[in-house]
Amino acid sequence: MTANLLDFDLEGLAVFCEGLGEKRFRAQQLFRWIHQMGVSNPEDMTDLAKSLRAKLAGTARVTPLAVNAQHVSKDGTIKWLFDVGNGDAIETVFIPEDERGTLCISSQAGCAVGCRFCSTGHQGFSRNLTTGEIIAQLWFAEHFLRKHLNRQDRVVSNVVMMGMGEPLQNYAALVPALRVMLDDHGYGLSRRRVTVSTSGVVPMIDRLGQDCPVALAVSLHAPNDVLRDDLVPLNKKYPIAELMAACNRYLAHAPRDFITFEYCMLDGVNDQPEHAKQLVELVAQYSTGGVWGKFNLIPFNPFPASGLTRSSAHRVADFAKILSDAGIVTTVRKTRGDDIDAACGQLAGDVKDRTRVGQRMAVRQTARTVMIKPVTVFAKQPQEH
Ligand code: SF4
Repeated sequence: MTANLLDFDLEGLAVFCEGLGEKRFRAQQLFRWIHQMGVSNPEDMTDLAKSLRAKLAGTARVTPLAVNAQHVSKDGTIKWLFDVGNGDAIETVFIPEDERGTLCISSQAGCAVGCRFCSTGHQGFSRNLTTGEIIAQLWFAEHFLRKHLNRQDRVVSNVVMMGMGEPLQNYAALVPALRVMLDDHGYGLSRRRVTVSTSGVVPMIDRLGQDCPVALAVSLHAPNDVLRDDLVPLNKKYPIAELMAACNRYLAHAPRDFITFEYCMLDGVNDQPEHAKQLVELVAQYSTGGVWGKFNLIPFNPFPASGLTRSSAHRVADFAKILSDAGIVTTVRKTRGDDIDAACGQLAGDVKDRTRVGQRMAVRQTARTVMIKPVTVFAKQPQEH
């Protein structure tokens, strides 16, 4: 079977080279050709010994992902839809800013967590991506953009594992991919510039702290367990207290001295002043001093199946003020690429739902609508700011 060279971190590639009867250091040369220079054909790797090139020709290749579509937003954000076979497609987004270029990478085709406010969650889950498929997104974006922008230097300066999927539910493939991103012979990104975002897979947060501590973002979205159980179903397994304790353990290893908490602002659901006050109490309860946690408030990008709407700008500002006044660093995320459905929570790819997560969510949503309807008929309308 032909090996995909994108599947290997440097150590894995050294072992592969040894298996071919080559010296381990050949892996460094090979790694640089692939990741730093974007070369896929061993024949073009001119400083490799001819004998190695011949061996590679028969046993290994760089397997890129096929691009199904590319969309460019008016704000410069680019979204690619990649074919990963068997009817599954994943999405990757590049967000250019003045000082940096951030690539948002997918880790799974679909997602089994089923968060209410997330398009991917509503699609269900097909399968985990391989290390090669995770890295192929960065490999393609970096070298495509260099060519496209006519640049020699690095274009992708930051990676966020915030695309489709829960990265910590694909841990075995994730960690080698992170190592390729961090490796000086690979993409040479600092740990602070690579962020893993999780909905709260507590045991894997602990393992990541041991194996490959990069920046950590936690999708919190609710200040208490009752609400979080509904918005992020994984909370039933790992409730907020366990998640916060894991965050504190992680900080002992993290490259930054704070955790980023993502909070999607949902009109009338989690955006009330009392929710902000509960967050302040939560931070006070678990903070170990210093900055500890930064909050990133995300304007919700509505889609019909969610049954949810976006909080008003005033409500978001009031919410942010309560947190800021309590000394919590709080930012409101600028929406990027929403004209091409590339903003947070909008990534949906094209997924064969093999676990029926999507179907179960649709049933839950119908039940919720039936329960809510009689109440809302008589309820006082929420005040618009
Ligand atoms: S928010 Fe993340 S964890 Fe939740 S369903 Fe979407 S992709 Fe999965």
